[in-house]
Amino acid sequence: MSTASHGDEAHQATLIRGDGIGPEVTEAALQVLEAAGVRMAWDEVEAGAEVVQKYGSPMPDRALDSIRRHRVALKGPIGTPVGGGFRSANVSLRQSLDLFASVRPVQNVPGVPCRYEGVDLVVVRENTEGLYSGLEHRVAPGIVESLKIVTEHASLRIARYAFELAQREGRPEVCAVHKANILKLSDGLFLECAQRVARDFPDIRYTEIIIDNCAMQLVKDPTRFSVLLLENLYGDILSDLCAGLVGGLGVVPGANIGEGCAVFEAVHGSAPDIAGKRVANPTAVILSSVMMLRHLGEQDAADAIETAVHAALVEPENRTRDIGGHADLDGITRAIVERL
Ligand code: ATP
Repeated sequence: MSTASHGDEAHQATLIRGDGIGPEVTEAALQVLEAAGVRMAWDEVEAGAEVVQKYGSPMPDRALDSIRRHRVALKGPIGTPVGGGFRSANVSLRQSLDLFASVRPVQNVPGVPCRYEGVDLVVVRENTEGLYSGLEHRVAPGIVESLKIVTEHASLRIARYAFELAQREGRPEVCAVHKANILKLSDGLFLECAQRVARDFPDIRYTEIIIDNCAMQLVKDPTRFSVLLLENLYGDILSDLCAGLVGGLGVVPGANIGEGCAVFEAVHGSAPDIAGKRVANPTAVILSSVMMLRHLGEQDAADAIETAVHAALVEPENRTRDIGGHADLDGITRAIVERL
């Protein structure tokens, strides 16, 4: 789905600042968007751990309605309690709005030190089912059952999305990542659907790889991959691994795309360990807003921000701690804004 540019009119979109480092890094992105001259009319809505008491959910209906109305959102990370506590706001958001495709472009960022050069791949993750269906129950004391749901509908849809993305971006290959040697029915169905869709795209090479081998091949030579097509849990895990290949979670953007709406957010979580210290790297959320601008048809502003981010990070003094520097959040944000 794409929304046409509105000329001089401001783009209407939902803003969720999130929790943990969310408000800090989102504010940095807003400053950068403003410096680039982008006119946004934000509908800011509350979501996250702090609103659970007030609305009974970390992703209240008001937030979901706003995104349905505006069809585009920029979202900061929202933490999820481990073990007990409320259901993940991120999973509810993706399932409620049917944001079926998680898209995470993983590329070297000029100047950001990392072990690999020439990485340019996209992780396409199925976002609505698999082991994230939330269907878990205690069968008997000491025994828990967790259901992995795989449907033909969702598998065909995500495979088609991956192939269409490859076609649009001139990418040569789609590689389906699976564990169908063990999960013969569920991952078997996922693969069968990918194979069916592949037949409609004869110009794009289709390959398959078992997830454990894929993890090893990624750390050996990530440049051999172009588009990775994965079900939900595999995509979650391998996208963090892929972020590590190009400098870490601080620099990798993401989008959650549905038929009707698109939510742009960094791959990283709320990083409670560094929240409030103003040392977080805002690059991932700034590059997520670049993806949002492209989606809105604001190509020039998107290119300008991306160039400014790269120009800032080439200077070692602008790099934050997570990418080997000493700059703080305000330092890197200022450096990007100055270059705009
Ligand atoms: P959540 O429960 O929200 O997923 P988490 O701490 O488990 O939070 P992440 O937020 O993804 O997971 O953080 C993983 C690690 O990466 C943490 O050590 C965190 O400090 C670091 N990190 C994540 N995002 C950034 C960032 N933007 N800048 C610097 N470090 C980051």
